[in-house]
Order: sequence, then structure tokens, then C-alpha cells
Amino acid sequence: MTEIFKGSFTQQEPIPQAGIDAAMAVLQHGRLHRYNTSGDEIAETALLEEEFAALTGAKYCLAVASGGYAMTTALRACGVGHGDKVLTNAFTLAPVPGAIAAVGAQPVFVGVTEDLVIDLDDLAAKLDQASVLLLSHMRGHICDMEALMALCDAAGVTVIEDCAHTMGADWGGVPSGRWGKFGCYSTQTYKHINSGEGGFLIGDDPEAMARAIMLSGSYMLFERHRAAPPPEVFKTIKYETPNISGRMDNLRAAILRPQLADLRTQCDRWNALYRAVEAGLADTPGLRLIPRPAKEGFVASSFQFLLLDWPADAVGEVIARCLSRGVELKWFGGAEPAGFTSRYDSWRYAPEQSLPASDRILAGIVDMRLPLTFSMDDCALIARIIRDEVGAVWQSGACADAPHAPVDMPAQ
Ligand SMILES: *Cc1c(COP(=O)(O)O)cnc(C)c1O
Repeated sequence: MTEIFKGSFTQQEPIPQAGIDAAMAVLQHGRLHRYNTSGDEIAETALLEEEFAALTGAKYCLAVASGGYAMTTALRACGVGHGDKVLTNAFTLAPVPGAIAAVGAQPVFVGVTEDLVIDLDDLAAKLDQASVLLLSHMRGHICDMEALMALCDAAGVTVIEDCAHTMGADWGGVPSGRWGKFGCYSTQTYKHINSGEGGFLIGDDPEAMARAIMLSGSYMLFERHRAAPPPEVFKTIKYETPNISGRMDNLRAAILRPQLADLRTQCDRWNALYRAVEAGLADTPGLRLIPRPAKEGFVASSFQFLLLDWPADAVGEVIARCLSRGVELKWFGGAEPAGFTSRYDSWRYAPEQSLPASDRILAGIVDMRLPLTFSMDDCALIARIIRDEVGAVWQSGACADAPHAPVDMPAQ
């Protein structure tokens, strides 16, 4: 019997009841704007910032309207402006180069390795081209952060981390987002906590965070922030910094606070699902799993594998066959951008760049969501379906010209 998966790859869990209750309270009192407080009331947004700072160990935290806004604000607060170049990952999502373009700067793309992290050799070769690296921990894969920071520190390059997929993750026990000058997070529906849209910036640098707070649209109400530098830091910054509105509101903050309290549990659940898919796909001929280093405290809210050096038609065939059995895979090798997935060569506002070693890897990256509405049994079934269909195409001769084609494989 051919097994079919019936679940939805885009269905989130409901907002926890405590979040619904807190949201109702905000709706009932009507003070949704973060600076609209009554008496000595502390706004939900200010409390959320305090809690996220405590969770990550950062001195300061600013809640904002989106992850993309967090990144543009971090770039502006680091002085990046028109005509500047910013290093960033070739393997990431569109809001990352988009944030660079938003401040009038130009992305310089750095390659991706077979382990789906930034290529440190390529980075080392390009460090003299820019003074800022916007590092994307794409799909939650974290590179050797000690090595990356050593390279960037030696070259005087400021690191801003895009932690859209690493909220709750760490490298060697140091949270993702705590290595660079700023860590940027998203609370958009498909990330680790869900307020529809939203984001955070964290950091320890008082002047940079004071600029970020003014940029976010604090007016002269910055003293209402709690996870913020003291008022004297704003002394001249408040005159020099434009207001580029992008605040978070109390309704979203109310929804997020109970989710933040549950983050650890949710991360552990994601990783259990991830390990179930990984175990189900182990030793599938032609399919490369992504190794997870011991130092990487990852949170796997999605799953990737490589069909490395497969002909494009054969990868397309696997995707189509899996889809016909209910398993939705996304492919970074497609010629045209589709859905949320696009590639550095389709971001044509950026100067044209050639990364042949990365093209080879991108052509083989297959990507899948792992929503928490999936069970362990669902994950085992999904893995069986992928394994079957990868096997069918691999054995069919469609990969006969691939470097590791079945003829070269030891008999199973
Ligand atoms: C979602 C995402 C962002 C941006 O977050 P938004 O809140 O949607 O603006 C940034 N980087 C990556 C890698 C993302 O997946």
C-alpha cells in the first residue's frame, strides 16, 4: 500500500490560552500603543523586552514590527548607509539582502558550505570589501562562531546576526544573537514564537541601542523602556537620530509573553521531531544529511537535506513524487523563485556576483517545514515517503550522469 501523508506543513499550534487571555485584556482596556500607559502601568511591550533580554542574557532589548525591520534598524544603528557594502550569506531568505537594500547599501554575497553554513574561507577572502557582516543563521544552521568572530574581529568587521531561525539556539552555550553587536529576531508566524508579525533586537552596546530605540519611533518617551540604556546615553542621540516608525504594540507583546515562557519546551519538541526525520532518512543512497556539530545547540523548526550533484530534472522528480504523497518539499535549486524560496541570483537589485561552488550546493538543497502540529509518527511517515521516492528516482537511471550515480554505489 502506498502511504500518503495528510497533515498540513503550514499549520501552527494555537496561541496558548494565557496569550489569548492577555490579548483580550489589552483589547478590553484599549491601550494598544506601547507608550499609552495608565498611571504607573508597565506596558506589555516593555515587559516583553525585559523578559527577552533576561532569556538571552543581553543588556538591552528592543521589540519591533518585524524581523526585517530589526535588521534594517541594526544596520542603521551601526552607521551603514547609502553606497556602503555589506557582507551577507548567499544562502538566506529575501528579507536579509532586502534589509541591506533598504538602507541604500549593496550586498556582497558569501558562499555556503555542504554543511549549510557560511563558508569561512570565502568570508576571509571578502572581509576587506565591507565593514559589516549581516550573518544569517539560515534554517538554524550555526557556523563555528569562535572562528567567525576571530576572523571578523581581526579585520575590524562588525557582525550583526540574523537569528530568525535560531531563537533559543546557541553555539558552545553562548546564545545565538549574543556573538555580534546586534542579534535580530522575528516573531512572524513561521518562526519560534508567533505574533503574526514582529521582531526583536538585542545587544550590549549602549549608544548603538539608544540609536536603535530612537530609530524605532520612541519619540522622547525612551524612558518608558526598561531593557534600555539609561537616559543620559540619549543626550545627543535623541537630536541626531531620525524616527523611522517600526514599533511593536501591546497586543502582540501580550500574545508573545506566554510563548516566551514556553520557548525551551517548544525547542525540545522541535528537536525531537527533527531527530525522528533524521533517523528515518539515515543511510538513504544519494541523500546527504546535514551533520550537526556537538557545539551547535540547534533548534530545528525545519529540515534540510542535500541531493548533491543530482541533475535538476531528477530533483524536480523527487519533489513532484513526494508532493503527490502529501509531503511538501521546497527546493533552492529551482530556476525561478517560488513561494518563500529564492536565491542570490534572483535578487537582481544587487550587483551580479558569481559563486560557482555555492551554486552546486544550492542546486541540491531540499527544505521542509516541521510545524509542532506534527507528531513523531507523522515524522516517521514523512521520512519513509521521502526515502521511498528518493530511492525510486535514484534507482531509475535519472541520476546516471551524477558523480556518485548508483552504478558506483556498493550493492545495498
Ligand atoms: C523570516 C526571516 C526574516 C525576516 O523576518 P520577518 O519578520 O518576516 O521580516 C529574516 N531572515 C530570515 C532567514 C527569515 O527566515
